[in-house]
Amino acid sequence: MIRIAHWIGGKSHAGTSGRVGPVFNPATGEQTAEVDLASAAEVADAVAVAKEAGVAWRSASLSKRSAVLFKFRELLAEKSGELAAVITSEHGKVLSDAGGEVARGLENAEFATGIPHLMKGSYSEQASTGVDVYSIRQPLGVVAGITPFNFPAMVPLWMCTTAIASGNAFVLKPSEKDPSAALFLAQLWKDAGLPDGVFTVINGDVESVNALLTHPDIAAVSFVGSTPVAKYIYETGTAHGKRVQALGGAKNHMVVLPDAELDAAADAAVSAAYGSAGERCMAVSIVVAVGEIADPLVEAIAARLPKLKIGAGTDPNSEMGPLISAAHKEKVAGYIAAGASDGATVVADGREGDLPADGYFLGVTLLDNVTPEMAVYTDEIFGPVLGVVRVETYAEALALINDNEYGNGTAIFTRDGGAARQFQFDVNVGMVGVNVPIPVPVAYYSFGGWKASLFGDTHMYGPDGVHFFTRTKVVTSRWPDPGTSSVDLGFPQTR
Ligand code: NAD
Repeated sequence: MIRIAHWIGGKSHAGTSGRVGPVFNPATGEQTAEVDLASAAEVADAVAVAKEAGVAWRSASLSKRSAVLFKFRELLAEKSGELAAVITSEHGKVLSDAGGEVARGLENAEFATGIPHLMKGSYSEQASTGVDVYSIRQPLGVVAGITPFNFPAMVPLWMCTTAIASGNAFVLKPSEKDPSAALFLAQLWKDAGLPDGVFTVINGDVESVNALLTHPDIAAVSFVGSTPVAKYIYETGTAHGKRVQALGGAKNHMVVLPDAELDAAADAAVSAAYGSAGERCMAVSIVVAVGEIADPLVEAIAARLPKLKIGAGTDPNSEMGPLISAAHKEKVAGYIAAGASDGATVVADGREGDLPADGYFLGVTLLDNVTPEMAVYTDEIFGPVLGVVRVETYAEALALINDNEYGNGTAIFTRDGGAARQFQFDVNVGMVGVNVPIPVPVAYYSFGGWKASLFGDTHMYGPDGVHFFTRTKVVTSRWPDPGTSSVDLGFPQTR
């Protein structure tokens, strides 16, 4: 049995807590490894190493930090195939999709190579007579990232590239379900010349998360995962004086107006609903069909489903792999049953059909006539289940989205530029696609939802990432002629 250890001080570090968790290959259902689950004491030891390393790293010049990022980017690009294979082996997503995840993470490394520009402050000469005022950005110290199973490389890359480039030491607590991608990244950082201790991986579960949330030397916590945990992380971390950004779950609606291009909308709905078996926070889980397009749209989506190839992620012919675990597969299957008994029309049932015998495979499900009271509408299912809600007007479609608890992503499909622009103006969601079903922002914008999809006010990566991992200091400076100095107890004014 492979043992997956921590990464502390620039090398693999076997756990001492005596607690381990199982890691499975979701395509076969076999346990392939066990991962160390850190105790609070192990977390404290790792943070101490990171703290010491962070002091020196903070002093490294911007060009030195940028050079490490350039090298890291080069190595990540070179080894993207290997990393994709690691992701597929523990997550299950198909290799092309795992490659896409790495490619999007690579963009974050590219963005962070520009750190000398991103860290620039501002300077006001002669703010008062003989007085200059300027701002500088400084790193926070030791910062932590706590990440979900569904993007085991990309989400850590959202965080660590900017955090490290900004001069922080970064401690990653990846998902215990697929921890190996994090250790792959650790080796790349080392090979890129990052000093030991600046990037740490601490494997674990709730115990290690709580240890990070309460440790006095952790200055900030960046979290991505489900909404209940995101809320807990935000509340606990901020109660312990930390800066926290906690991204939560989603229920993304794709509105299809009557004038939309039917085939393009159907292709987009299928791709965005079933890609990565629906285990994406930007997956489309609800199509809102407006007016007379509903019948032809449901028909067009249904016609595409039998052609989807479901199989092991390592098979180049597979388009959709298994779910992450046996328990999650059962949960998703339960939602299909609930949808049927609540009165949704089951157009395609993922529990039926030819699926690989082993592993956590589920077919694709299409539920028509879903209504807002049903559990398949209210809950984030996080599986290959697409619901269709039928409405008569744009206003009803908009109200559905704005009344929804979540506000991560949304999309509108239409040929009407005015309608799309109105939607962009009206909708209470953080990321909006116009004829684009999965509008994940490019690395030089920032990623984040609204409402229950984000606790905190700062989005992930891009300019917001630099803001989150740095704090500004404003210096007011005078180099007076000693002859003009005098005591003045008045409040400072500009003159
Ligand atoms: P999760 O919330 O179960 O786990 C996320 C992390 O939190 C893991 O590292 C896990 O070990 C830890 N954790 C789990 N339970 C905890 C608890 N009770 N206390 C403290 N820590 C705990 O999420 P997941 O199942 O790994 O990932 C899927 C979820 O993540 C979905 O809800 C999805 O929408 C969301 N997600 C959101 C985004 C986004 O950008 N908004 C991106 C990806 C995934």
